[in-house]
Amino acid sequence: MVDRCDAVSGRCARSLCKSAQQNREAGSLGCQGVDGRVPSVGLAGGVKKAKAHHRGASQDLRRQESLPVILAELRSAIPAGRVLEITTTIGCIVGCSYCPQDKFADRQRKVSHAKHLRLEDFKRCLARVPTSVDIGFAGYSEPWLNPDCTEMVEHAFAKGHGIRIFTTLVGMNKEDLQRLRALRLGVFVVHVFDDGTYMNSRLVGNKYRDLVRQLVDAEIPSIQFVVLGEPHPDVVDIIPAKALVQARPVSSRGGSVDPRIVAPRQPVVGALTCVDERQYRNVLLPNGDVTLCSMDFERRHVLGNLLCDGYSDLFGKPVFCEIVDRMNGADGFLLCRMCEFADPNDRT
Ligand code: SF4
Repeated sequence: MVDRCDAVSGRCARSLCKSAQQNREAGSLGCQGVDGRVPSVGLAGGVKKAKAHHRGASQDLRRQESLPVILAELRSAIPAGRVLEITTTIGCIVGCSYCPQDKFADRQRKVSHAKHLRLEDFKRCLARVPTSVDIGFAGYSEPWLNPDCTEMVEHAFAKGHGIRIFTTLVGMNKEDLQRLRALRLGVFVVHVFDDGTYMNSRLVGNKYRDLVRQLVDAEIPSIQFVVLGEPHPDVVDIIPAKALVQARPVSSRGGSVDPRIVAPRQPVVGALTCVDERQYRNVLLPNGDVTLCSMDFERRHVLGNLLCDGYSDLFGKPVFCEIVDRMNGADGFLLCRMCEFADPNDRT
């Protein structure tokens, strides 16, 4: 049973983490979306072309199916505990075909016109979050598409939060990297560009290659390079093969991803458990809203708003209490039922 609990600094009295092998095999990138300062190519046109390319990619997908689905190496390197992931911007030019970014943007624009999370709003929200909660720069879009992202990371670090970064490097430049190197980063996952099967290869240019090279040379202890699919041919000579975790997209994002790319799972009936306790890895949006987790691209469970609610209030409001009741088997819509991280409690 899932407890409604909850002391901010603690875990639930009863463990939620009863993992199933099926779910152990699911990948866990925040934004599965990776590059250097956005190159000067026509980006909108690039995304359109990428999307057209994605439509014709089904033959390639068969080849990708031979890739491992297990990201155990990566997941074991990511610590447990509470996290607030930051979605710094709405809309993402990376255009990974396994990311339901458009659905998120459509839903979000109906409630707010804020494109970027403003630095001052980030600071106001963060002031409400205990330092025991790690801050993850991932969310539903590429974090460095917001020009204030590095400053946000520095601010959160200075306040004493553990820092987790998941990035494609798109929007980042060499100076950003220098500043990040000066910090102690708990998790630093670089989502490497694939060969164009799922991602927009036009974002791979000399700046991106230079940035990747700089990162490899920097020897940041926590760094992990991950590619979903085959790595882009322009980076295979830069990233040592043993430093690159290769997998294929495995999460349907609660059924939000195009089913031709990741088929939705069979819905879980009855009580369930989130294998990574991700109901405590919530996502802050640019308007201050907080959604359940990194699977909730369609804002199905909005817990509250950190511009006006305290962090612990998020877990005492009706929305979170309903989620807990439904995880314990009550009727009503629950995103987890369609999520690869949900483990049915009754496995008979
Ligand atoms: S949707 Fe539910 S089961 Fe899936 S990661 Fe989020 S909290 Fe966990």
